[in-house]
Amino acid sequence: FPEDLPDSALVMRAEEAGGTDVFQAADVSLPSPGEGQILVKTAAAGVNFIETYQRSGVYPVDYPFTPGTEGAGTVISLGEGVEGFTVGERVATTEAATGTYSTHFVVDAAKAVHVPDEVTDEQAAALPLQGVTAHYLINSTYRVSAGETVLTHAGAGGVGQILTQLLKAKGARVITTTSTEEKAKIAQAAGADYVLGYDNFAEQVLEITKGEGVSVVYDGVGKDTYQGSLESLAVRGMLVAFGGASGQVPPIDPQELNRRGGLFVTRPAVHWYLRNAQERAWRFSELFSALTAGELELNIGGTYPLTEVARAHEDLEGRRTTGKLLLVP
Ligand code: NDP
Repeated sequence: FPEDLPDSALVMRAEEAGGTDVFQAADVSLPSPGEGQILVKTAAAGVNFIETYQRSGVYPVDYPFTPGTEGAGTVISLGEGVEGFTVGERVATTEAATGTYSTHFVVDAAKAVHVPDEVTDEQAAALPLQGVTAHYLINSTYRVSAGETVLTHAGAGGVGQILTQLLKAKGARVITTTSTEEKAKIAQAAGADYVLGYDNFAEQVLEITKGEGVSVVYDGVGKDTYQGSLESLAVRGMLVAFGGASGQVPPIDPQELNRRGGLFVTRPAVHWYLRNAQERAWRFSELFSALTAGELELNIGGTYPLTEVARAHEDLEGRRTTGKLLLVP
């Protein structure tokens, strides 16, 4: 019923590259769903590290820029030719076409997923990006087997807690790192077998693995940890450098990979692992099943009013958060 739609949406956008003070609230005209798209009233939007890179200018974007690709909410309007979705139903996505730091967003119907009744709006907004990331990292980038020992960093973080739970469900042995005692407890509660500090973590990993090293390191911390991550690997092990919370990983000399045992390095991103409808459906159905079966718990570490997004970014960059951060309009 188009007459029920508001004229405008409230967005929190970055006016230019910079610190969190570049965020301004703006009233913009309601985004209109094009062919094959749906318009969603946001129930909650996920905050992810990538948006801090976009706000600060580490990743180039055009300003003013409304961040956010992740969100959940209710369908309020359908573009032409949309099939399989109805006005009033709940959907989630990590591939929104317009920024989800907003009261409303548009998404291609092909990139939206139906939210099962037993999943809350908060869970639906919290799961997509970090859930899909954890899923592809351990099933597709490097397929972890039962009994394998794996190192993941930032075990109390959003991706970190999901990774650990999914790795444990596969029967892997999980070593992780955290920066504080409080975070160590959270990583342990997520199921980690060993929680280390960052100092000399590679030495400790070699001790735990009796000198062998681990077959894979999932490293979202980047600049501060990648060297130790390489040192933690077994012969022919793989460094999965999937993020740079401490800064980006500098170029790596292929001869170093040779010297350390014919290592592999990859720098993956979500869009390379959501390549088609089958892949999307597979990952989401396994994640929703794990959630509803109680094998996966989503720890929402902070819920912020949409207009207080600056505080959410400060907390995330300031290393003060655990679990998932959400914005609620
Ligand atoms: P987290 O909740 O994990 O937050 C980042 C954590 O990194 C911090 O809590 C902190 O944990 C740790 N950290 C270590 N050094 C620093 C530092 N200098 N500054 C800030 N944090 C630091 O965030 P997310 O779960 O959202 O993301 C984790 C990583 O995964 C990010 O690098 C992100 O870009 C990446 N990512 C990559 C994706 C991909 O497909 N490639 C998709 C999604 C996320 P502690 O204090 O315990 O060290």
